[in-house]
Amino acid sequence: MLAELSPKLSVEIQRAAKLLASPAPICVLTGAGISAESGIPTFRDKQTGLWQRYRAEDLATPTAFVRDPKLVWSWYQWRRQLVHDKAPNPAHYALAKWQQMSKANHQSVTLITQNVDDLHEQAGSTVTHLHGHLWRNRCHDCGTPFKNEAEVLVRDKNAIRFDDELITCQYCGGYIRPDIVWFGESLPSQAWQTAEDAAASCKVFISIGTSSLVYPAAGLAQLAKQNGAKIIEINPNPTPNTVVDITLAANAGIVMPLLIEQIDALS
Ligand code: NAD
Ligand code: ZN
Repeated sequence: MLAELSPKLSVEIQRAAKLLASPAPICVLTGAGISAESGIPTFRDKQTGLWQRYRAEDLATPTAFVRDPKLVWSWYQWRRQLVHDKAPNPAHYALAKWQQMSKANHQSVTLITQNVDDLHEQAGSTVTHLHGHLWRNRCHDCGTPFKNEAEVLVRDKNAIRFDDELITCQYCGGYIRPDIVWFGESLPSQAWQTAEDAAASCKVFISIGTSSLVYPAAGLAQLAKQNGAKIIEINPNPTPNTVVDITLAANAGIVMPLLIEQIDALS
């Protein structure tokens, strides 16, 4: 209920809903913060237990994998273990509902994520992944996809194996790695094209749960702004994003359902 929020946040949500209720194209960019309320740690949270000694940024690089493939593979197996039983939260479901509503209203809502989890898909959204997929693997040397746990996941969640033994490619003998874009690697070109097109042509750009520190994704809001879009940010904490018109400073799981309810009421 809007009435339960602070008067300022309630007013800002209504302002945002007015902008979003018009049938103009929308681009939504999500980051790790949208999955935080599902229990998935964001990148810049403290790592727990065994992994407290490592910084995520030090493990998510091709150099780290070449130096110590077992360490990096083990870290991703640990992250998979953390994530495999997590479910979408009200923010993921609200976005999926909005995408459904917008189809009926002939409005385009393009959803781009930096997340490697599949919670948007689980909620029913169509989404473009800029940074790859946690549940897919490929050969580090020749790039051939390796039959992945996602297929097992769909059939039987209990059948996933999280052991940290390295796997080698049957074609070239290279090590199998997660199909994730690491620091220093290029983004998948088709996904990036989709993101740039959506940002450059939207009338409203919404940034949800991202620290706006990791480029090139963090530049999409600027691209949208340069092309005349209004920018909305949903994040309980301040970010370095300086092009924001409306800030909804609260958790996405609280704000998104209320925002979509308001848009529905106005459209
Ligand atoms: P980040 O960790 O840098 O920032 C997360 C942001 O979310 C912070 O600004 C924080 O204030 C905000 N936040 C925290 N809880 C929130 C909530 N409930 N609602 C709204 N916002 C909330 O993450 P990032 O900006 O996505 O960037 C870095 C990289 O981390 C990405 O490349 C991504 O691939 C990777 N990553 C992905 C996952 C995932 O798939 N779930 C998890 C961790 C990291
Ligand atoms: Zn190979």
